[in-house]
Amino acid sequence: MPGASRSAGLGRLAAFVAQSLSHYPRARNFDFGPQRRGNVSLLSPHVRHRLVLEQELLEAALQRHSLTAANKFVQEVFWRTYFKGWLEQRPDVWLDYRANVARLIKSLDSDTDLLRRYSAAVSGKTGIDCFDAWISELEQTGYLHNHARMWFASIWIFTLRLPWQLGADLFLRHLIDGDPASNTLSWRWVAGLHTKGKTYLALSKNIARYTDNRFNPDGKLASSAPALVESRVFPLRDLPLAQALPHDEDYGLLITEEDGCPETLALRGKPKLVLAAVATQQRSPLPSGARAREFAAGAVADALTRATQHFAVDGQLAESEDWGNLLTEWAAQNNVSNIVTAYAPVGPVAEILAATSTHLQKHGIRLLQLRRTYDSVVWPHARRGYFKLKDKIPSLLETLGIESEDGFQDSRSEAV
Ligand SMILES: Cc1cc2nc3c(=O)[nH]c(=O)nc-3n(C[C@H](O)[C@H](O)[C@H](O)COP(=O)(O)OP(=O)(O)OC[C@H]3O[C@@H](n4cnc5c(N)ncnc54)[C@H](O)[C@@H]3O)c2cc1C
Repeated sequence: MPGASRSAGLGRLAAFVAQSLSHYPRARNFDFGPQRRGNVSLLSPHVRHRLVLEQELLEAALQRHSLTAANKFVQEVFWRTYFKGWLEQRPDVWLDYRANVARLIKSLDSDTDLLRRYSAAVSGKTGIDCFDAWISELEQTGYLHNHARMWFASIWIFTLRLPWQLGADLFLRHLIDGDPASNTLSWRWVAGLHTKGKTYLALSKNIARYTDNRFNPDGKLASSAPALVESRVFPLRDLPLAQALPHDEDYGLLITEEDGCPETLALRGKPKLVLAAVATQQRSPLPSGARAREFAAGAVADALTRATQHFAVDGQLAESEDWGNLLTEWAAQNNVSNIVTAYAPVGPVAEILAATSTHLQKHGIRLLQLRRTYDSVVWPHARRGYFKLKDKIPSLLETLGIESEDGFQDSRSEAV
C-alpha cells in the first residue's frame, strides 16, 4: 500500500498506468490477497483524501492509453464522483444513516441477540472462512478489494441478517479510504436500496473463482437476497452554490482530511497562515480503526508540509479533534477575518464546519469553502442513476480539458 503522501500516491499512479492499466479490465475483479494487489491501483486512500485528484487519475490514464483501452478504469473513477455528487444532492440519506447508526449502537446495550450476532461478525467468528479472514484483513490493513467489499456486505446483510448500517459503520471506521459517499451508497446498492429492488448476492463459486480458490464458503451463504425496503423518500436538493474568494483580504487556510492538495486550489494570492486538522474519530460513535486514523493523520500532515513550503507561511496542526471551536480562536489570534478551506462534501468534516460557521459569523469571521471545478462540472450529472452519467463521460472529459489519444471516441460505440 503506498504511504500517506502525495508523492507516494503519484508514484503509484505512474507505475500503475505504465504497468497494469492495460490488464485492468480483465484482472480487476480478482482478489489474490493482500500480498498480490498489482491488478488494482490501490489509490482510493489517496483519492479519498485528495492527495491525488480524480482529474489526475484520468489525465495520467489517458495520456498513456486511449479512452477505449482505459475505459474501465475511467468508469470506476467516475463511479466515485457519481456517488459523491449523488449524496451531495441527497444529504438526508447521510443524516438518516447517521441517526440509524447511533440508534443501532445504543440498541446493542439491550438487544442481546443483536449483540451476540454483531460481536461474532466483527470479531471474525462466524465460521464463514472468507468473511472471518476479511475482518482481520480490514483491521490489519485498512483495505479490502472491491469484490471482497461486495461479498462482505452481501454476507453481512443476507446471510448474517445484520443491519446494513452497522456494517457500513464498521467499514467507515476501519477503511483507510473510508468515504461517506462511496461507502454508504455501496452498502445501500448491495442491499437493494440504491437501485431500488436490485440486490447483490454473494455466491460461493464466484468467491472461490475470484479469490483464486483461497476461499470456498460452499453451503454457508444465503441462497437469495430479497431487497431491503424503506418507507422514507429522500428529496433531491440543489447543490450548494460555489463560493467566491475574499477580495484583497487576509485569509487563513484550513486543511482537512477532505482535501490534501491545497497548493492546487484556485486561491487568490497566498494565505496568511495555515491550520491543519483531522476528524477521523467523528466518523462514528465507536472508535475509528488505527489504520484509518494513521492514514488520515499522515495525509493531513503531508498536506500541511507542502502548503507551508509552497506558500512560504507558518502552519500548525490542531492538536485535538475538537477543532471546530478552535477555529474562532485561531482566526482571532492571527487577525484574519476569513477562513478558506476546500469544499467539504457531505460527511463528518462538513458537519463540523456547518456547526462552527454560525459561531465564526458571530465573531465576524467568514468561512469559505472552495469547490473544485471537477466537482462543479461532474456532480450536477449525478442526480439519478450512474448509467446516465456514464453516457456523458466523453463530453465530461472534454469539458474538463482531459484529452485522450482516440479523441473522446464515445465508449458506447465500441465493437461488441
Ligand atoms: C460495500 C462497499 C463499500 C465501499 N466503501 C468505499 C469507501 O469507503 N471508500 C472508497 O473509496 N471506496 C469504497 N468502495 C468502492 C471500492 O471498493 C474502492 O474504491 C476500491 O476497491 C478501491 O481500490 P482501488 O483504489 O485499488 O480501486 P481501482 O480498481 O484501482 O479503481 C480506481 C479508482 O476508482 C474508484 N473506484 C473503483 N471502484 C469503485 C467503486 N465500486 N465505487 C466507487 N469508486 C470506485 C476509486 O477511487 C479507485 O481508487 C466500496 C465498495 C463497496 C462494495
